[in-house]
Amino acid sequence: MAKRPIYITTPIYYVNDRPHIGHSYTTIAADTLARYHRLADREAFFLTGTDEHGAKIAEAASAAGKDPQAFCDGIVLHFKDAWKALGIEENDFIRTTDTRHLESVTKILTKLKGAKTESGEDVVYASKYEGLYCVGCEKYLTEKDLVDGLCPDHKRKPDLVSESNWFFRLSAFLPEIKRLIESEELLILPLERRKEVLGLIAQNLPDFSLSREKVSWGIPVPFDPKQSAYVWVDALSNYISAIGYGAEDVESQRLFKKWWNDAETVHLMAKDILKFHCLFWPAMLLAIGEKLPEKLFLHGFFTVDGEKMSKTLGNQIDPNELVAHYGADASRYLLLTQYPFGVDGDIQVARFTEKYNSDLANELGNLLSRVVKMIERQFDGKLPGPVRDLAGVQELMELTEDAADKAYGEIKHFRIQGAIEVAQSLIKGANKFFDHAAPWKSIKEGRLEEAGGVLYVCCEILRVVSVLLYPVMPTKMRELRAVLGEGDDTLSLDSAREFFCLKPGSALTLSEPLFPRIQEPFVPSGMKKLEAEKATASDDGLLDISDFGKVKLQVAEVLKAEKVEGADKLLKLQIDLGKEKRQIIAGVAEFYSAEDLVGKQIVVVANLKPAKIRGIDSQGMLLAAKKGKKLTLISPSGEIPVGASVG
Ligand SMILES: [Zn+2]
Repeated sequence: MAKRPIYITTPIYYVNDRPHIGHSYTTIAADTLARYHRLADREAFFLTGTDEHGAKIAEAASAAGKDPQAFCDGIVLHFKDAWKALGIEENDFIRTTDTRHLESVTKILTKLKGAKTESGEDVVYASKYEGLYCVGCEKYLTEKDLVDGLCPDHKRKPDLVSESNWFFRLSAFLPEIKRLIESEELLILPLERRKEVLGLIAQNLPDFSLSREKVSWGIPVPFDPKQSAYVWVDALSNYISAIGYGAEDVESQRLFKKWWNDAETVHLMAKDILKFHCLFWPAMLLAIGEKLPEKLFLHGFFTVDGEKMSKTLGNQIDPNELVAHYGADASRYLLLTQYPFGVDGDIQVARFTEKYNSDLANELGNLLSRVVKMIERQFDGKLPGPVRDLAGVQELMELTEDAADKAYGEIKHFRIQGAIEVAQSLIKGANKFFDHAAPWKSIKEGRLEEAGGVLYVCCEILRVVSVLLYPVMPTKMRELRAVLGEGDDTLSLDSAREFFCLKPGSALTLSEPLFPRIQEPFVPSGMKKLEAEKATASDDGLLDISDFGKVKLQVAEVLKAEKVEGADKLLKLQIDLGKEKRQIIAGVAEFYSAEDLVGKQIVVVANLKPAKIRGIDSQGMLLAAKKGKKLTLISPSGEIPVGASVG
């Protein structure tokens, strides 16, 4: 009997940004899971895509001088290219601007409009939406968007505006969703996330709006074309629009039945979109009378080398750069082996090269090289025959015997790292066996058959490893299999359950190392750029020590000092340099009051390119000594005329 197929999705990614490793992480995980299920002889459908509507996109498009569709078409290519570079093989890529999606969402909205709750109320009703609206931006802002209560772009207070929107009666569905979660018909994983969802239900969440009047870049609401579909219904529906929901043709209906109604359905995502996926989405499906997804797996957040990912830190890694440095497969491996899938963790990019060299170049790549080289030298490049009663072989066979089941067991529980560890333990076992059996000694002492037996067993372990790590590193593992003379016909967990499979006498060749050693650490270009900028100016008005050599230092006297409005750390100083007077902005207000400084002699960098700090001209920098939370200005220890050079 055919095994039940599985449908795996990532969230669709918003195209206001280029893909970074946050997007890549979920997508690589989904690709790996799908490949693993296929190894277990299950059909798997893996969907990813892009979310392309909304005010932010329209705004970014107009800033780029493009119409929104052309703008989206451009950004989508970055996602598609990045996935290709990472060896991602999705079965379908849905865009919310696809016609099929528009048709599907139109159907869903129409259905929702006619739907009634159990107590006979309309599921969709008109009500007032109230929000903070910036006329400058022509969009709603949230409290979080504001800086000191103002729109950061237009420096104006947003208006409290209300518009009439269509609302979804979420409250009517919460009791049923609670029941389904508790009975595990709707399985939310890991368990902490399930608790979080049940906690949200207990708070009696308000209904959510399905439409917006002032956002024109979206799907028109069929029963009220002045309004467009708001993000929840537009984005979440991709999971069914991609597989034919609402389409009349036979093929779409077959697809939908197969992948939604009959398959095991799994949505993967990061935990920040929990509420929408675990409550809004199931509620909408209940309202239109469709089956709910079976499993929602919410993975954690990660930091990069202990820091939150951000543009300011330059640690938002472009997957293409990572691939250029380590290759697609190793990049996937490095990301998936940092911490268990599911929890919060840290991606130690600074240690990527070390990890690559130890796990891939040394443990795995070197084992293959040593074994194949010895076979080339001593056995004419032909795989020697097995010797079953060698010391240590029994143990290795036992280790290998249930490896495939163990690894797949981990995968069924979304423990990708656990599955990788099963393969790692085989590699370690084989290395230990090889070193202990020391086939080079047997060769020297003329026991060629014994040496051959050792090499054969190592090749067998490598064959099993090539199956177990294939979902993580598909290209490299196919290369490894090619060295052993294995093709895709035996690429399955079933074949990994067998031992003594390789045919003695088959030719083995390895032209270059599977994982060549890498010397250079990986530094994201964003970080390199920041470091270069830091060398010329630091934002607190203090000079970086590396630039001292090029610098012209002079003694100056502070004539006037005052605080800078809205900047707690800055003082605006008027200084006398002898031949001229200047204004500088200095980040010393936490340590000196304006009065402290007037009349004081200080040392300044006189040949600095003028800069604007908080919009105010600054022609130079003062020198200060800083340690921890202490700062003191550098000034001459005795009287000297202003303008005197320092050096
Ligand atoms: Zn604004």
